[in-house]
Amino acid sequence: MTEVKVAVLGGSGAGKSALAVRFLTRRFIGEYASSAECIYTKHLCLDGRQIHLEIYDPCSQPQQGKLSLTDELHWADGFIIVYDISDRASFAFAKALLYRIRESHTGVCKKMVESSIFLVGNKQDLCHMREVGWDEGQKLAIDNKCQFCELSAAEHYQEVVAMFTKVLRNITSNFKVKEKRRPSGSKSMAKLINNVFGKRRKSV
Ligand code: GDP
Ligand code: MG
Repeated sequence: MTEVKVAVLGGSGAGKSALAVRFLTRRFIGEYASSAECIYTKHLCLDGRQIHLEIYDPCSQPQQGKLSLTDELHWADGFIIVYDISDRASFAFAKALLYRIRESHTGVCKKMVESSIFLVGNKQDLCHMREVGWDEGQKLAIDNKCQFCELSAAEHYQEVVAMFTKVLRNITSNFKVKEKRRPSGSKSMAKLINNVFGKRRKSV
């Protein structure tokens, strides 16, 4: 069993919860509790490999400006950075998050880090209200050597699954490279997660 931890980050209202819930349950429910942060867990099989996935969905409300990300950076194996294509402020926030993640990783092997960050322009169904061009998202991703896609959590279930699958593939292929260094004790890892976050856990 491989443990994979993904943090979904982005500005308030960008669609972090919508994306996570869509991937985990196939459903788009429209309104999501934003007052609580949580870790969703799911077992899945990818390329014949059993994966225990944990998705961190932060609380949107009070710490929107919080950029220290110290806990998240220690916890996560990969990041999905979400912005809303109809909200330029959310794009600026995504950019700040990307810079923060990159600057914190300057010591480690860059190739590994770069492939485990995915920039997502969400709400593509609102393209008549677009404030951020596709090419701007693409450029930001290229400049930061991360992957990029635009999609709609509301309307594009297949794209959401494809995006998460790519993230998981990148992370697990990084694991193969550093497998020998990675402790596999799930008990100690669960304890560590609780220590770091100490938050509610939901099983989906
Ligand atoms: P979070 O604060 O980043 O977790 O954002 P939410 O997931 O709670 O979404 C914020 C709002 O945007 C909610 O009203 C969602 O229904 C809406 N939303 C999320 N994704 C989409 C999308 O792809 N298209 C549209 N039109 N609305 C979306
Ligand atoms: Mg949310």
